[in-house]
Amino acid sequence: MKVIREFLPYFDERPHGAKVRALVLHCSAHSAAEMVEVLRERELSSHYIIDTDGKVLQLVSEKKRAWHAGQSEWRGMKMLNQYSVGIELSSPTLGQDTYSSEQIASLIKLSRQIIRHYQISAVNVVAHSDIAPTRKPDPGKAFPWQYLATKGIGLWYDVNNAAKVATNDVAELLKIIGYDVSDLAAASYAFCRHFVPQLVATDDDVNHLVDNVFPPDFVFPKAYLSVLKACAYKYGKLL
Ligand SMILES: [Zn+2]
Repeated sequence: MKVIREFLPYFDERPHGAKVRALVLHCSAHSAAEMVEVLRERELSSHYIIDTDGKVLQLVSEKKRAWHAGQSEWRGMKMLNQYSVGIELSSPTLGQDTYSSEQIASLIKLSRQIIRHYQISAVNVVAHSDIAPTRKPDPGKAFPWQYLATKGIGLWYDVNNAAKVATNDVAELLKIIGYDVSDLAAASYAFCRHFVPQLVATDDDVNHLVDNVFPPDFVFPKAYLSVLKACAYKYGKLL
């Protein structure tokens, strides 16, 4: 696939022995061109940007550690920049409106290459919101996780498996999937953003959304416990 290279100097070496084990997906309300400028101003980076028309830009070599995830945790991995490749998608509503088919087609091609090259486990294809649930809402409730799972990118659940999981403890179930549950409201809401997006409110003000990532009093609704359990089954395998 055609990739436009526009390298930024904001990266460093991956720590010795740190293998790429995760793919972190983001979105930003800027166009690709604006995003490059914003990253420059903030001295940040990601490996790739995909514009709304499907155009792919590479900013950092996959061999290097790009600076996209910040403080983060998933399945015991901390600070995921060292273990991951990061892809940003341009999305004016921060992933609250459907992504364009051109953009998703490019994402599928690029993600498949990366997943195959590093043998990334499907459990480690994650949203920025999954690994930083108190801070980040991206790539948003409209991100097509279920569709991508049919293309070999990430996982989706089969609700018929819910009964195979014994525990009903929300924190325990989220932990099995991979979430850091030190803020249970945040982790529960991040789970909804990924797997039960109809429970996530739409926010027409993107700036407000960025500052109010989750309702601090959010409690995971019991009516959706079977979805959470089915996910834990899929991600846990051991139960
Ligand atoms: Zn992000």
